[in-house]
Amino acid sequence: MLELKRAASSGPLRVLCLGAHSDDIEIGCGGTLLQLSRARSRPRPEFRWVVWSAVGARAREAKLGARRFLGPTARDAIRLQEFRDGYFPAQFSAIKDAFEILAAEFKPDIVFTHARNDRHQDHRVISDLTWNTFRNNLILEYEIPKWDGDLGQPNLYVPVSRSAALRKAASLIEVFGSQRSKDWFSEETFLGLMRLRGMECRASGSHAEAFYARKLAVSL
Ligand SMILES: [Zn+2]
Repeated sequence: MLELKRAASSGPLRVLCLGAHSDDIEIGCGGTLLQLSRARSRPRPEFRWVVWSAVGARAREAKLGARRFLGPTARDAIRLQEFRDGYFPAQFSAIKDAFEILAAEFKPDIVFTHARNDRHQDHRVISDLTWNTFRNNLILEYEIPKWDGDLGQPNLYVPVSRSAALRKAASLIEVFGSQRSKDWFSEETFLGLMRLRGMECRASGSHAEAFYARKLAVSL
């Protein structure tokens, strides 16, 4: 089933975070992860954090980003792949094989991944293979603002505290030096989108992150 059985489970919430490039996970669900990783609930969530193209400076940024958002648990959570940036459609079968290995190693309660209608070709491959591999799990697709202007109307919101929103935006600028030259990569972009999503869901803390939940089963 696609339901989140957190209350019924005695074990930790198992959270799988998938991003094509370093910075994708942090942009898409960094505020949610900051809150999850710092929640006082026991047992603490167990994370697996996979970046599918992380080489050289971008690998260093990926590790630093995971540490910044997950804290000490990042060291055990992070897995870096080295698929060629921008060419994921041409590497589909090899990436699919890597997904199968991941699925054998980690059984998630919830999966954060790219949105199906994201216009970046690498992002779409990861989204498609997430559904292909983890179809029996709860999948939440995050959004990434970009030049293409592909933001849509998400249908699931996670309110994010103002402090988590500010921390996310500041950390993105601090950690991902390779992206600072992009004119859209700014604290204003990230805070503006979270503020807009917070307004849409009337978040008490004023900010939120939004997701596409294509299938969701609720036990009543
Ligand atoms: Zn990306």
